[in-house]
Amino acid sequence: MKKFRALIFVFLIFFVCGCGKKEYSKVEFLMDTVVEIRVHHNSKAEAEKAINNSMEEMRRVEQKMSCFLPDSEVSRINKEAFLEGKRGSPLAEGWIPVSDELFSLLEESVLLSKLTKGSFDITIFPLWKIWKFEGENLEVPSKGEIERVLKLVDYNNMILQNKKIRFTKRGMSIDLGGIAKGYAVDAAVNVLKKKNINSAMVNAGGDMYVLGRKQGKFWRIGIRHPRREGEILGIIEVENKAVVTSGDYERFFFSGGKRYHHIINPKTGYPADECQSVTIVAEEATFADGLATGIFVLGPKEGMALIENLAGVEGVIINKEGDVSVSSGLVFKIEYVNQK
Ligand code: ADP
Ligand code: MG
Repeated sequence: MKKFRALIFVFLIFFVCGCGKKEYSKVEFLMDTVVEIRVHHNSKAEAEKAINNSMEEMRRVEQKMSCFLPDSEVSRINKEAFLEGKRGSPLAEGWIPVSDELFSLLEESVLLSKLTKGSFDITIFPLWKIWKFEGENLEVPSKGEIERVLKLVDYNNMILQNKKIRFTKRGMSIDLGGIAKGYAVDAAVNVLKKKNINSAMVNAGGDMYVLGRKQGKFWRIGIRHPRREGEILGIIEVENKAVVTSGDYERFFFSGGKRYHHIINPKTGYPADECQSVTIVAEEATFADGLATGIFVLGPKEGMALIENLAGVEGVIINKEGDVSVSSGLVFKIEYVNQK
């Protein structure tokens, strides 16, 4: 009985502590999106310090991985990674050294390209530059322009070796926009973990990771309705997972009644049009981010087959008609709010 009482006491303390934690949060504009970090902790000072360090870490990742910041490591690669080799072979000379951190991310990008049959491809940048998706009066590039640039897009022409990189064609460039946000989220979560935070959420514009539980319960994550702004299609309950969504509603314009958006099929040069959104649930946000983008291009059928094949990965795919498919491990964990 004594033992039993002690046990109750322990549980009580645990329960009170669990609920006594307050939520602290911060929102900043980073990586061209709204980043929110929420932490549950007993100490305001420690929670705020952890959040600030975590934001700082995301800023560091952005400075390194952005292809839009001229001084980033990625921009340096884009400027220098094609040099004519001395003996006419581009591979003969001029390899560009890459930091360990970026090299690992480039290798993970290649792995994702292989898994998605080239649907995920960071050498997309030349196409991205002609599509723009920024500013006003956006236009569809001409067919000729797309064909010309398409020749520069192929991850097989980005050679990674011994922590060095090389492009085999002049004009090639990389854009980590389909994976870097996820990487930044993982990096931010690692900082929180080091600060002994065990209940938190990091959300970079729909790329998120939930650490532990929220006041003892699963985190409830809404999946956006791709065609009804501000509405949620369903809710999933998770803990210690990345939940990342790629949708055609993030950046787009209409021309001739057709939606043109920011996820491009590297094989055609045009925005991928088989899905409205893809949500991936996985152990890490980096992988989930790249996979969501890749599967968006790969399409709902092959995409769902790939999700089912990958251990520890679940997903929700909304196809171009608005039909929802859910992977086997999530079917009983999704709560529908609005459909179609
Ligand atoms: P979001 O940035 O809205 O979260 P994604 O993670 O799907 O969406 O990333 C889209 C970004 O990825 C684009 O803005 C572009 O920078 C890049 N991108 C577009 N198409 C591809 C592709 N097929 N493979 C890899 N990256 C891509
Ligand atoms: Mg992505």
